[in-house]
Amino acid sequence: MSQRPTLSTSYRDPHTYPPGVAYADGQYFDVREAKVSILDWGFLRSDATYDVVHVWDGRFFRLDRHLDRFFASMEGLRLSAPCSREEIVRILHNCVALSGLKRAYVEVVCTRGTSPTFSRDPRHAENRLMAFAVALGSIARPEQMLRGLHAVVSDRVRIPPNSFDPTIKNYQWLDMVCGLFEAYDTDCDVPLLRDRDGNLTEGPGFNLFVVNGGKLATPDDGVLEGITRETVIALCAPEGLPVEERKVTARELMDADEAFVTSTAGGIIPLTRTNDQAIGTGKPGPITMRLTSAYWDRHTSPEWSEAIDYSAA
Ligand code: PLP
Repeated sequence: MSQRPTLSTSYRDPHTYPPGVAYADGQYFDVREAKVSILDWGFLRSDATYDVVHVWDGRFFRLDRHLDRFFASMEGLRLSAPCSREEIVRILHNCVALSGLKRAYVEVVCTRGTSPTFSRDPRHAENRLMAFAVALGSIARPEQMLRGLHAVVSDRVRIPPNSFDPTIKNYQWLDMVCGLFEAYDTDCDVPLLRDRDGNLTEGPGFNLFVVNGGKLATPDDGVLEGITRETVIALCAPEGLPVEERKVTARELMDADEAFVTSTAGGIIPLTRTNDQAIGTGKPGPITMRLTSAYWDRHTSPEWSEAIDYSAA
C-alpha cells in the first residue's frame, strides 16, 4: 500500500551548490538559499532575460555594456525590472563584495514572474529581478584552453531571428543543449550551430571568429552580440588587424589559419579542430594569442573595468 502523502512544512533542498551570494526581493543570502517559484514564467516558459558579467582580480569588466544589453533585452521582451539601473549596479557590487570572490561569474536575471491567478496572460505577471555571484567558470576546462576546443559543425539550425531575436540574451537553449550532446557523441567539445542557409552562427555560450590571411571574420546575423565579441572587434584596430562582420561558412572554418570563440565565461578560447580536421596547424594560432593578451591586459584599465569595494559589504 502506498503511503498517504503529507504536506511538508520544512522542505529541505537535497542538492549541492557552489559557494556564492544571491540577491532577490531586497535581500542577500547564501546562493544555496536562492529559489525560483515553480510557477514563475521564467521557469515554466523560459520567459526571462539575463546577463552575465565577470569580475577579474576584484574588478568588473565592462559592466556598463552588459547592463546596456540587459536593459535592451528587457525592453525587447516587454519586461521591466522592479528597480533602477543604479540599484542593479549596487546589487551586483554587493553580491560580489559579500561573496568575497575576486574572480566571479555574476548573473542578473529578470523573469516574467508569477500572477496570483496563474493567468496565461503575460501582462498579469509581476516581473522579478534576481542576481548572484559565484566563482568564475569557463566554457573550456584548463586543458581545453591550452589545446583549443574541438567543435562539431552541427546541421542543427539555431533558432532563426524571425522566430526569436537572438540579440536578446535568452534561455531558449534546447538547440544548444541538443548540440552539446551531438558534440559529445562525436568526441568533440562543443557544437557550432548554423542558420537556415547553412552559414555558421554561434555555439552554447560563445561567438565565433575565423582568421585567414591575417584578416578576421565573425558571423553578423542570427547571433547574440557578445560583449567579448564586441571587445575583440574593438581590439582589432589598435592591433592593426582587419575584421569583418559577415556570413561565415563551414568551409571557411575548415580552411582557416586560426579560429577562436569568445565568451564572458573564458574570454578568448582557441578552436583547433572542426569535425575530424585540424584548423591551421591544429594549435592555438599567433593572432588568437595576441588578442588574448590584449584582452586580459584591458582588465586593469579604468576605461574598461571598475573596482569592487569589498570593505563596503
Ligand atoms: N552567444 C550566446 C548564445 C551566449 O549565450 C553567449 C554568452 O552567454 C555568447 C554568445 C557570448 O556573449 P558574451 O561575450 O557577452 O559572454
